[in-house]
Amino acid sequence: MKKHYTFSTGETIEADLDDLRRLLAENQQYLDNYEEVYSSLEDDDYIARGNGFCDRKYSDDFIEGQIEKYSQRVKEINGWIENNKRMDAHQAIVLLKEGNARFVSGQLAPKDHYAEDRLKLSEGQHPFAVVLCCSDSRVSPEILFDQQLGDLFVIRNAGNVVYEDVLGSIEYAVEHLESPLVVVLGHSSCGAVTAACQGGELPGHLVDIAKRIKPSIISDCCINDNARRHAERMAQLVRENPIVEHLEVTVVAAFYDLTSGVVEWM
Ligand SMILES: [Zn+2]
Repeated sequence: MKKHYTFSTGETIEADLDDLRRLLAENQQYLDNYEEVYSSLEDDDYIARGNGFCDRKYSDDFIEGQIEKYSQRVKEINGWIENNKRMDAHQAIVLLKEGNARFVSGQLAPKDHYAEDRLKLSEGQHPFAVVLCCSDSRVSPEILFDQQLGDLFVIRNAGNVVYEDVLGSIEYAVEHLESPLVVVLGHSSCGAVTAACQGGELPGHLVDIAKRIKPSIISDCCINDNARRHAERMAQLVRENPIVEHLEVTVVAAFYDLTSGVVEWM
């Protein structure tokens, strides 16, 4: 995906990751030339030009200026490449585990830079993980994983069930936003799982939700074990999605304990 970048000189470009790598190689080459070739020449050396003409060696000031200019460009392009490198699923899980540990201990990351983040994020988003979880008000992924604006692509519904629209959102995130990881997060004391376990008549569209949870239920299991099984089964449904499969996106199930705040990885 091509994005706009602005050099500190004010020059703007539109580039994707491959373009940036090509541009880096080109600018690195200029930098090497000024650092090694031109600065090593004596004052009365001549530099051959492709058209057969010769130029006198550039002045020291000019060479210094060029070295400064291309060093700066190489630095800026490197920074953009670094920001755009797709994080792998393993790194994404580590970030979520570290965030959950901060949440559990109460040592949260600073949250005083939203204004700055909003400005940066208005140019685009690169969430490093997709989280499908229950709408339960006690299970907010950004809070329990202690992440910032723009970090998580979150899909929520009662009972964290998978159906076409949910798969569409996941496909968008993994394909267009290049998120390398999908987490299906179940939780303890889930009302939707409890309703599906209890069976009986359910009002309105709750029937549709229960219908998607019921195949996960083993009648002699406790609610929480059923919720774990359900998260695993939903993760399997996501894994079987052709786009998720084709892009080799990692899909994991996890379980959040409302009391301890701990996320258990399955
Ligand atoms: Zn729930």
